Amino acid sequence: MVEAFAVASGKGGTGKTTSTLALGMALAERYDVTVVDADTGMANLLFHTGLDDADVTLHDLLVEGRDARVGDAVYERFGMSVVPCGTSLAAFEAADPGRLREVVAELASETDVLLLDSPAALGSKSAVLPVVLADRVVVVLQPTVPSLSDGLKVQEYARSYGTETAGVLFNRVRPDEDAERIAEQAARYFGGTTLASVPESDAVRAARRAGEPLLAHAPADPAADAFREAATALDVREGPADPAADAFREAATALDVREGDAGDVADRFRSAVLPDRV
Ligand code: ADP
Ligand code: MG
Repeated sequence: MVEAFAVASGKGGTGKTTSTLALGMALAERYDVTVVDADTGMANLLFHTGLDDADVTLHDLLVEGRDARVGDAVYERFGMSVVPCGTSLAAFEAADPGRLREVVAELASETDVLLLDSPAALGSKSAVLPVVLADRVVVVLQPTVPSLSDGLKVQEYARSYGTETAGVLFNRVRPDEDAERIAEQAARYFGGTTLASVPESDAVRAARRAGEPLLAHAPADPAADAFREAATALDVREGPADPAADAFREAATALDVREGDAGDVADRFRSAVLPDRV
């Protein structure tokens, strides 16, 4: 395991799922990538990957008493391991969000890069957990001041749990927008860099209708180019970067556990602090 990223934003519809899959496909050229639909209340990654009829999904792993193993919810698609989530409200209500820790721990021990497609709001345990579990967060924004303000709240929350900002990804940028000025403001307020500005593009909508990620459906589209640029700018780190992980490594060394052993990565997620102030 190299790094876990949460792909998050303050609002829905900014392009988190589109971005998760595009970054995932771009990173899959160099890494073993797993993408997880951790937006368990508003899941839609399944529609972007042709997995609408998946038998077992993340929901089955989060509901107590369902006899599913993590591997049963992993589908090999588009060069990535994809963990979709179901869309049933009843399953969402029955799910225990705390179990996501264990699922992420198990997935992390078997992949290089983990991308968690995260919920938009910060109002509940299920909504914040992906951001808490990740090493770094990719903040997806539209190039407007209100969107910037929402994104800053996400960053503030993430930081309070030791999750750094990997960068800001502007999406749905229209030619007439003053994206440059907003990007300047973003550079001032956000810890990470601007990863890319992805244009508004018909190909993105067409890809979703076709049930394919953009990079599979229209790899030559300018939006696909921008996502590839963002993936390069992410600068995936070789090794967990947050202090909790370092502390864990020290403890693991003291216990004579081999560094990089799959077990220590898994334990890092299992021992993640669950937020109690939501
Ligand atoms: P989220 O996961 O944040 O709710 P999605 O990735 O599902 O957002 O995107 C929401 C809608 O916006 C989808 O219909 C998607 O096809 C569309 N969309 C996302 N990014 C773009 C873009 N760059 N150009 C055009 N449409 C986009
Ligand atoms: Mg989504």
